[in-house]
Amino acid sequence: MNLDFSEDELAFRQAVRDLIAEALPQGHAFDGSRADEARWHTALLAKGWAVNRFPVAFGGPGWTPAMSFIWERETAAAGLPGQVGGMGPGMLAPVLFAYGSPEQQARFLPDIVADRVRWCQGYSEPGAGSDLAALRTRAVREGEIYVVDGEKVWTSGAHTADWMFCLTRTATETKPQAGITFLLIDMRTPGVEVTPIISIDGRHAFNRVTFDGVRVPVENRIGLEGQGWTYAKGLLTHERTGQAFVSLSLNLLRGIRVAASTELAGSAGGQLIEDPGFASRLSAVEIELRALEMTELRTLWEVAAGSAPGAQSSMLKLKGTEIVQRLTELYVECAGPYAAPWFPETDGPAEPLGPSWAGRETVRYLEGRAASIAGGSDEVQRNIMAKHVLKI
Ligand SMILES: Cc1cc2nc3c(=O)[nH]c(=O)nc-3n(C[C@H](O)[C@H](O)[C@H](O)COP(=O)(O)OP(=O)(O)OC[C@H]3O[C@@H](n4cnc5c(N)ncnc54)[C@H](O)[C@@H]3O)c2cc1C
Repeated sequence: MNLDFSEDELAFRQAVRDLIAEALPQGHAFDGSRADEARWHTALLAKGWAVNRFPVAFGGPGWTPAMSFIWERETAAAGLPGQVGGMGPGMLAPVLFAYGSPEQQARFLPDIVADRVRWCQGYSEPGAGSDLAALRTRAVREGEIYVVDGEKVWTSGAHTADWMFCLTRTATETKPQAGITFLLIDMRTPGVEVTPIISIDGRHAFNRVTFDGVRVPVENRIGLEGQGWTYAKGLLTHERTGQAFVSLSLNLLRGIRVAASTELAGSAGGQLIEDPGFASRLSAVEIELRALEMTELRTLWEVAAGSAPGAQSSMLKLKGTEIVQRLTELYVECAGPYAAPWFPETDGPAEPLGPSWAGRETVRYLEGRAASIAGGSDEVQRNIMAKHVLKI
């Protein structure tokens, strides 16, 4: 693996920087709002880069792994998302490429590319998280319709999603994995109800979703009845590969260096970066981050050469999560006494004390705790690696 960029790659990097400079007006920081996302997405569509991980046959730009790597780093450094559209392009689209019928591909992919339709993931249920195959949401076939009854939980973004890709149980008499069917459900269908769950960082990101006699056309089933487990597992490897968080961690590292070199009024005094204990912990995590960066690049090359990410995605997710969590801890340490979280919605108009990043990074610290559970817990990733890599 050669890490020196070629002339072409350097030219590509310049083109990326030019696009970012054009799309992001001077002094404007991307705020993550739907309006900002739409502006950035329009610029990406015009350039043909909106779905940059898609295969060429489905409208992707055909980037090499090195180009994808450059893209991720440059967009992250500018605070921009590498791709807009959430779970549609990143998680459902690879399932549609591999297992969707031509009719399903033609029906769903254009809306994903254009970011007209947002998707959420209906996998987890009360009693079926790590042991996902225990899921009980029933889909009973009645002619050309499945009638769905049951409950999903921790469904990120269900309150803003238009559709859900959902695992349902269509058989109980076989082994649990064999009786699962992958359905696409329009969230506006009568009988779908979404209830918010507020998380520790004070935000509404999760939901409980209940289904009461929800009628789903059979044409919304991906692949064969009872084969949903195979499609679901493939999707999870794509989800976890996207959870290495390298770009986020590089940004955190940059921010910590600045914060730790600042003397905070009202704190114990001195610059934290001068503290050998702090500096040593920061260096240790940076070394691991650089190693993770190389592992991610290696995985991108392997995926580009045609192999599925497989158990390597568990390694990326586990290590990536650990690194983000250690960095957010160090960031909060930099904030010292100003680290108390501040939620504008509930804490009122008063300004937070201390530097503007302090409250934001504390919220990120809280949010980061959930990363060791989302997409499969740390323990489950270790089990997968033990089984498929160490062959224990
Ligand atoms: C931020 C976030 C976003 C999420 N978004 C979604 C979403 O959009 N859609 C969705 O479907 N789900 C989502 N989830 C749910 C997530 O997939 C589950 O929380 C996760 O799979 C764990 O399941 P559980 O919560 O039922 O915990 P459990 O499975 O009950 O696990 C509890 C504890 O037991 C441990 N454990 C369980 N089994 C084993 C084992 N075999 N060996 C060792 N330890 C074990 C676990 O590691 C964990 O520490 C999200 C979760 C989070 C935190």
